[in-house]
Amino acid sequence: MLGTLLERNSNGLYCAAGDFYVDPWEPAERAVITHAHADHLRPGSRQYLTARAGLALVQTRAGPEARVEGAEYGTPVDLNGVRVSFHPAGHILGSSQVRIEHRGEVWAVSGDYKLASDPTCAPFEPVRCHTFVTESTFGLPIFRWLDPGISLDEINAWWRGNQETGKASVLFAYPLGKAQRVLAGIDSSIGPIYTHGAVETFNRIYRDAGVALPSTAYARSAPARTDWSRALIIAPPLSKTNPWLRRFGDFSTAMASGWMRIRGTRRRRSIDRGIVLSDHADWPALLSTIKDSGAERVWVTHGYRTALEQWLSENGLEAHAVETQFEGERDEAVEDVGATEAES
Ligand SMILES: [Zn+2]
Ligand SMILES: [Zn+2]
Repeated sequence: MLGTLLERNSNGLYCAAGDFYVDPWEPAERAVITHAHADHLRPGSRQYLTARAGLALVQTRAGPEARVEGAEYGTPVDLNGVRVSFHPAGHILGSSQVRIEHRGEVWAVSGDYKLASDPTCAPFEPVRCHTFVTESTFGLPIFRWLDPGISLDEINAWWRGNQETGKASVLFAYPLGKAQRVLAGIDSSIGPIYTHGAVETFNRIYRDAGVALPSTAYARSAPARTDWSRALIIAPPLSKTNPWLRRFGDFSTAMASGWMRIRGTRRRRSIDRGIVLSDHADWPALLSTIKDSGAERVWVTHGYRTALEQWLSENGLEAHAVETQFEGERDEAVEDVGATEAES
């Protein structure tokens, strides 16, 4: 049954029956939040509802004054007679697909998701629905990820290689999610690990949630005569000339991102090493997830919408590309740079 439980209006995805938005673009009366990345969570809404596992992150991002409630994964909450529940999306800590049910009609809004293994969050769980709203950040057939273990080994080898040549290893990673996934997966016996403040803020929340991360030190608090040549430093994407980097002396840079799959991205950003590691579904994962949802209708948001919409239409599904406000979001690694470059 293909109803109109959700609609796209000027503030994003709205459920009129339940009077709430999912990841609204502007402040709303009630915001149901898939996860704490800034393109999904805007501050200023009157009430937030998110998965319990992501509550601390949403509270941090929405501000201490915000009214944030959490629901356990799989436990429905009644919003004006509409059943809303959260199901793991495997993207970052506390990330969810939102299942919305009313009078027999079921929608699922994926938020961002991935199927690949990630010890820092609950694994993706398929949700059956009539209409599936899927992300498509990497919705092109060229995007196929290798096993994440291969990318993590690449980081280890790059770090060891830098140690041999007396260089510090500066790894740029998105500070919420990617940084913690890297930390949880690398070989921490190689050397000391330091972090930028933006990364450390989220490390603390992950550790409080019981996620095992190796010990890290805040780079800014390191003594003046610290030998950085054996160290791995995890920072949000910064330009090579950023003053925060000066203290490390001679260093090599790497960036962990799905965008490193595109030839030229690394060079354009003048980064020494590109590590392909994404927290989004690749092309085969998008297709299998859509199939497993059992949905007859698919709304495609984020990223390469048209390619995926076309593929789905050609394969017998009713598909619509749905515009998102944040087209700048194409770079999964860039979101926080503005806020963090101030720290020097
Ligand atoms: Zn995200
Ligand atoms: Zn997103």
